[in-house]
Amino acid sequence: MLQLENVVKSYTVEGKRQVRVLDIRSFGMAAGEKAALVGPSGSGKSTLLHLLSGIIRPTEGTIRLLDRRLETLAEAELDRFRACHIGYVFQSFNLLPGFTAIENVLAAMQFGSSALTGKEKKERAAELLDQVGLGHRLRHRPAQLSQGEQQRVSIARALANRPALVLADEPTASLDAANAGNVFELLANACKEEGAALLLCTHDSELAGRMDRIVRIRELSREGA
Ligand code: ADP
Ligand code: MG
Repeated sequence: MLQLENVVKSYTVEGKRQVRVLDIRSFGMAAGEKAALVGPSGSGKSTLLHLLSGIIRPTEGTIRLLDRRLETLAEAELDRFRACHIGYVFQSFNLLPGFTAIENVLAAMQFGSSALTGKEKKERAAELLDQVGLGHRLRHRPAQLSQGEQQRVSIARALANRPALVLADEPTASLDAANAGNVFELLANACKEEGAALLLCTHDSELAGRMDRIVRIRELSREGA
């Protein structure tokens, strides 16, 4: 489903010096697999997720996702590909503050490729929110929801277009321990229910242990540092 080969990401700093932040020989994921990506702060976890979602491009190497080579796609194709096939869950939720829970999920569906009618989209959005335990909070705006509830809305939103891959960047880092455990469980279950693979960054090794597989970013590196 996903395969990276010889992926390097370097940044130019101060106009000249090249800093290599990622150097991955090989990394792959199977359809429906749930993996935790673990590494210390600054080790390139977010950079890897940005590469997988096409938000940034590799300096070298190939990223094959669902039989497409991401590094060869033009900007507009990448935007469409991302909207249709990738769900993203952020640490800071990134919900639209002026919109209700169900409107936030529906907004994501406008950019997908689904052939659903307006009514069917509303039904699916409500169903997803119900699945994450927010069936009674459809018309609440983010400010009217707890942090844990806001993260659940963003999980429902990430799954709205039936993505093949969900990327979650430290999704529980701003939640208390009880909420973090719940949200984690929900995310894993929702991905399973929807048949999506999940790659989740975390530095919480207890939570990481609940995934099918733990991927240590250092061990992916060509230098094996
Ligand atoms: P993590 O998510 O594991 O904390 P990041 O992927 O955010 O790590 O960052 C990895 C490294 O890349 C850091 O050292 C960071 O300073 C560097 N970095 C990230 N983005 C840029 C950028 N736009 N320009 C230069 N360096 C960057
Ligand atoms: Mg990060």
